[in-house]
Amino acid sequence: MLHQAPKTQTHPRVLGTRRDPPALRQCCDSYICPVCDQVVELTDFRQVVWHQRPGHKPMEMDG
Ligand SMILES: [Zn+2]
Repeated sequence: MLHQAPKTQTHPRVLGTRRDPPALRQCCDSYICPVCDQVVELTDFRQVVWHQRPGHKPMEMDG
């Protein structure tokens, strides 16, 4: 007679509903570039790329 071991099911434990705000989350969609002191719109990919270059100048804005 075979004795079957009871199945051990591992339920992932839900540790409550903690809502920690992401540390790197900015409050807005823009920041001041530390290199050229220009406001960088994080929604504009061109601006983000531009201000990642070391030693860059402020981006010229048309308009
Ligand atoms: Zn910049």
